[in-house]
Amino acid sequence: MATRLKTLNSKRNPWTNLVDFLRRVNAARRSEILLYNKRLSLLSRIAKTINSEARVKKILRLILKGAVNLTNSNAGVIFFKKNQKLRAIESYGIKMVKKDLIIRPWRGIVGHVLKTKKFYLCNNTDKDRFFVAWGSGKRAHSELAVPIIIDRGVVGVLIVSSRDYDKYKKIDEIVLKDLSENASIAIKNAKTNQILEERVRRVLASKMQFVADVSHELRTPLTVIRGNIELLQRKKNQIPKEDREAMQDVVEETKNVSHKLENLINLIHEDARPEKIQIKLFEFSKMIMEVLVIMRRLAREKRIKVIIKNNPKIKFLGDREKIKEMFLNILTNAVKYNQYQGSVILKVEIKKSRVEVEVVDTGIGIARADLPFIFDRFYRAKEIERYKKRAGSGIGLSVSRFIARAHGGEIKVVSKVGSGTKFIVILPFLDS
Ligand code: ADP
Repeated sequence: MATRLKTLNSKRNPWTNLVDFLRRVNAARRSEILLYNKRLSLLSRIAKTINSEARVKKILRLILKGAVNLTNSNAGVIFFKKNQKLRAIESYGIKMVKKDLIIRPWRGIVGHVLKTKKFYLCNNTDKDRFFVAWGSGKRAHSELAVPIIIDRGVVGVLIVSSRDYDKYKKIDEIVLKDLSENASIAIKNAKTNQILEERVRRVLASKMQFVADVSHELRTPLTVIRGNIELLQRKKNQIPKEDREAMQDVVEETKNVSHKLENLINLIHEDARPEKIQIKLFEFSKMIMEVLVIMRRLAREKRIKVIIKNNPKIKFLGDREKIKEMFLNILTNAVKYNQYQGSVILKVEIKKSRVEVEVVDTGIGIARADLPFIFDRFYRAKEIERYKKRAGSGIGLSVSRFIARAHGGEIKVVSKVGSGTKFIVILPFLDS
């Protein structure tokens, strides 16, 4: 028995302890690296989300949630300055003793950070001279707080806490500092955008108001002219035949102008009331992709290919829904007036201070005689009227042009009967 044991032992790896030790170290390293990677990807995801967010409160909420998750904390609170006072805006994993808590400078860790503008780490709250408990739950034993600074002033404080002692390490400090810097940039951007949006909204609103005012001003004199001529026409017998015809022409033309004016007024009321314009910064390429999805579905029946050639990632300031409606109109036409198995090619290009979108179709084209009128309300090309299947109202393009113009842009068209049509939408960057 003794000899057998000896042989077994001699076969045993002589470095078991070392191998075990290294294996454990490796495993620990690996999980540490995995954890870092996880944090890194979460951080970049948060940065991406908040950078496209226009609401400050949402940015703060996302930052707070990210901070608690990334530092593996039990709770967190974010404070933000409103009317010169630092208030608790959002809490996560903690029930605040007092809602809308206002922090006095130097009071608690947050007050301390507010005053010193510096990061603060406390791994034992029992011995901390600044610590004040705000939550109604279990006591926090470690806390980490960081100021959110914009233009050298503290605009907020982010604090996370844990029930464990000695919870926070250097990496948590780095994560929190990064989050706070990202928050500063996102908040600053959101505020600049808000100011910009307001400015653009006001300019557009006054433009609309001007058009509305002019239309209303013209309506009354036109009605008077028409009324008077109609009155004169009643004295038929006293008026020579030639003059009667001329008068009839005037009546027809005034009717025509009145009709156009009514359309303009309706258009303004329906589509462009200042309060209806929703200017915001949006991802242009995303909106284009949404249009594409809808169009591809529509084009399936006629086996028309809808191809996108170029769609750069850009942020655009404007009314997202209206601009989308405009492209839906133009592309619907490109499909509707296309032939079986035809194609529609979409190309988005950034030119110096504007975006240009080309929509090229292989459809029936538009006759030269119709081209100047296709943007008029209710106008449909004579040929089209014959195609029963191609139902429409003749409104789409006039609304589209209105939308482009409301954004300071324009729509151009080039077409050849029988071979196809190209629409070019030009939209200037309103903020440049
Ligand atoms: P609708 O399509 O409802 O008639 P629109 O205002 O969208 O109204 O278009 C006005 C007219 O312009 C259409 O009736 C059609 O004659 C012409 N048109 C517009 N887009 C195209 C196109 N891609 N190909 C050929 N004709 C077009």
